[in-house]
Amino acid sequence: MQYIAPTTSAAAVAALAACNGDARLLAGGTDILVRLQADLVEPDLLVDIKHIVACQHITEDASGFIIGAAVPSAQLGEHARLSQVWPGIVEGMGLVGSTQVQGRATLTGNLCNASPAADGVPAMVAAGATACVVGPNGTRQLAVEDIPTGPGQISLANNEMIESFSLPPRPPRSSDAYIRFIPRTEMDIAVVGAAVNLTLDETGTCIAACVVLGAVGPTFITVNAAAEALIGSQVDEAALQAVQNACSTAATPISDKRGTAEFRKHTAGVIARRAAIVAHSRALA
Ligand SMILES: Cc1cc2nc3c(=O)[nH]c(=O)nc-3n(C[C@H](O)[C@H](O)[C@H](O)COP(=O)(O)OP(=O)(O)OC[C@H]3O[C@@H](n4cnc5c(N)ncnc54)[C@H](O)[C@@H]3O)c2cc1C
Repeated sequence: MQYIAPTTSAAAVAALAACNGDARLLAGGTDILVRLQADLVEPDLLVDIKHIVACQHITEDASGFIIGAAVPSAQLGEHARLSQVWPGIVEGMGLVGSTQVQGRATLTGNLCNASPAADGVPAMVAAGATACVVGPNGTRQLAVEDIPTGPGQISLANNEMIESFSLPPRPPRSSDAYIRFIPRTEMDIAVVGAAVNLTLDETGTCIAACVVLGAVGPTFITVNAAAEALIGSQVDEAALQAVQNACSTAATPISDKRGTAEFRKHTAGVIARRAAIVAHSRALA
């Protein structure tokens, strides 16, 4: 196996295209190196993106934040302004693994590993994040929600890579939250995850919302009925109950060792309600 660490996205993509065998990208390595060690993947070429300058930074301008594809979870949490404006995105990745894992693990790898239980994905989808995808024919913008297509499956071509993510500009009185349920207090995989992103007007009425579930379907589930229940409300008890009901109904979990499908459907509603309460209180703050 060959390992390379190019310094530009163009060089990385050229190497992917030139490889005759199985070429894989490596960001933090906390998924792919585990799979490599378990002989679940046997790449001929590993392309490390951590040395690509365009992948390394978090920037903010009038059009919102740009997060480089190689930025680790720890760096997201240390970014005071990102944590203030998009706390749900930061807390989703802040739940990933341990301190050691967070020193390496990226949003990109979390998304492209395409686990149904990925903690970083629901809040990115709820935010309306887009990915800057570089390929042999140039660059394209792709909605994050269009990237995972099933467990372990993504819509990117083998010779494409994510260079960065864009988060849209934030209107006033906007915030988000991500909450997951796990049987232990840490270092476990979500049984249910829920992200809520919302905006209030000056009277406290919710004027925009997105509610996204994780770990209760083959990939994340956007619950439009839950968003519709929030929009136009004061995020009161009636709206929260409607969010809970809509999310329990929308969840399509399997039964496994972490819980029955029935338990997970119920918990999806409870966790989504709690995420809505937290996002609402943050938007009011
Ligand atoms: C001990 C431990 C605990 C964990 N706990 C959690 C947890 O609680 N929650 C959770 O969600 N996950 C957890 N994980 C899984 C993992 O840490 C996360 O999914 C992490 O975000 C993966 O990011 P990475 O940068 O390490 O990805 P990598 O392993 O580098 O890559 C993952 C996938 O993304 C692809 N990829 C990498 N870069 C690019 C790119 N630029 N463009 C396109 N594709 C790319 C790779 O080819 C690979 O298929 C845990 C892992 C470990 C080892």
